[in-house]
Amino acid sequence: MIRGRLSLGRLWPLAAAVRPFASPVEPRRQFRAGRSRQRDFYQGFEKEMDLFRQRLKAALPGTDWNPWGISKDLPPEWADVVIVGGGIIGWSIAFWLKMREPHRNALRVVVVERDLQYTKASTVLSVGGIRQQFSLPENIRMSRFSAEFLRTVNDYLGVFNEPPIDIQFNPSGYLFLATEEGAAVLEENVQIQRMEGAEVSLLSPTQLKKTFPWVNTDGVALASYGLENEGWFDPWTLLNALRNKAMSMGVFQSVGEVTSFQCRSNEMVTADGEIVDFPRIMVANTPPIRCAIVVNAAGAWSGKLAEMAGVGTGPPESLAGIKLPVEPKKRYVYVWHCPNGPGLETPMLIDSTGAYFRREGIGGNYLGSLSPTEEEEPDTQDLEVDHEFFQEKIWPKLAHRVPAFESLKVKSSWAGYYDYNTFDQNPVIGTHPLVQNLYFASGFSGHGLQHSLAVGKCVTELILDGEYKTVDLRRFSFDRLIKGEKILEKNII
Ligand SMILES: Cc1cc2nc3c(=O)[nH]c(=O)nc-3n(C[C@H](O)[C@H](O)[C@H](O)COP(=O)(O)OP(=O)(O)OC[C@H]3O[C@@H](n4cnc5c(N)ncnc54)[C@H](O)[C@@H]3O)c2cc1C
Repeated sequence: MIRGRLSLGRLWPLAAAVRPFASPVEPRRQFRAGRSRQRDFYQGFEKEMDLFRQRLKAALPGTDWNPWGISKDLPPEWADVVIVGGGIIGWSIAFWLKMREPHRNALRVVVVERDLQYTKASTVLSVGGIRQQFSLPENIRMSRFSAEFLRTVNDYLGVFNEPPIDIQFNPSGYLFLATEEGAAVLEENVQIQRMEGAEVSLLSPTQLKKTFPWVNTDGVALASYGLENEGWFDPWTLLNALRNKAMSMGVFQSVGEVTSFQCRSNEMVTADGEIVDFPRIMVANTPPIRCAIVVNAAGAWSGKLAEMAGVGTGPPESLAGIKLPVEPKKRYVYVWHCPNGPGLETPMLIDSTGAYFRREGIGGNYLGSLSPTEEEEPDTQDLEVDHEFFQEKIWPKLAHRVPAFESLKVKSSWAGYYDYNTFDQNPVIGTHPLVQNLYFASGFSGHGLQHSLAVGKCVTELILDGEYKTVDLRRFSFDRLIKGEKILEKNII
């Protein structure tokens, strides 16, 4: 069952509000009756419309007049596609689905989100970075697609009569530092990135010192520096812009938590004749929404959501027993001030130790962190920040690399959840082999924000065309979990 805020009690005022607008026959009759009657009608019509909007607002607070949909909060009883999770991934998929038929309502799409404040969602707690410097061609291609999208974000997401979108993009390269031990891998990665068309330069310690004089090059054997398509932006703005645009094209938003799936048939015959107890048609409800396809875009909670659909609940050795290995992992972000720190040209620096930082605005403010080791993984019950982790594990590394940081002062901090794929830290995208109307788009393990725009388009292609066209993401399918084949990304932060 899905617990939602919507109840029948909320529907009645809406029905009353709609009534004045109910007779489409009226206008035609009056139109034929002559010019003065026509003017009267239009004056009357405008008044009726004003009244209608006022009543709609009173009936559903927070609902704006939306000529394409019925209401932004009122979910329909059925949909073609229900997307669970209204983070950046969910809204990107919704947007791209509607882009395929922007002016017709042939495809009914609903996004179900339990928390419109996004208090725990990874999207709004991320640090907003985009880079081309990955080791897997798929990840590089997705970043390059997203960078192009962000460059022309207003062409895609601009809404008529609304102010232009400013995602506050800060163009700035990522600077990866490698020790003697890691230099060969770094060089190999850069070769792959260049083959994919990315502009990345390799710097010797001397070149590094010349470019960024404030870096202590001790222990650095090689560095790679992105020359384009890298930087950071405001995740909230992008999320809101995607949601706004998708809703303006008719996507419905449903506020509620998906807590179970119901199914019409709970038997399914697989290719090898095995009968498994899995739903074919899933129902998500706030009250219930019947649908043909469910997309699991529940971020760090998608492992849990998959379980609700039966994934991973079968006997351990069977196909039905393989879980979606995505779970929350807590990551801290610290913001500090250092008046004599590096200036405007500061890149997003990723130290060989894994510690990273970037400029946060101007005026000597910086933001950064370090992922804990497996043994140090903090409890995920809450989003409390461990301040000692900064003092003991991060600060010494930062101060070694940038001596000016010896005098830094931490000003604020926060924690968020990585949507972590414990199998190989890469996303699981595509259908489940048994529950074939369940699509996955989760497990991005710290790089989902920048890939969301490409992922949305690719998942749309898979749903509507049955194959990928923009970026071939077949290697990220659920099948690799079955085969036990890890697709490892070497540049995980
Ligand atoms: C500290 C930090 C820094 C990061 N930095 C970067 C970065 O620089 N660049 C980058 O690309 N990525 C970064 N990421 C990763 C990125 O934020 C995520 O990969 C991405 O936001 C995932 O988006 P999502 O939509 O899948 O998840 P979310 O944003 O978490 O959205 C999932 C939504 O699903 C909803 N939900 C879950 N279960 C249910 C349910 N049962 N019913 C209804 N709703 C449900 C949740 O409420 C949530 O809003 C970072 C993450 C963190 C935590």
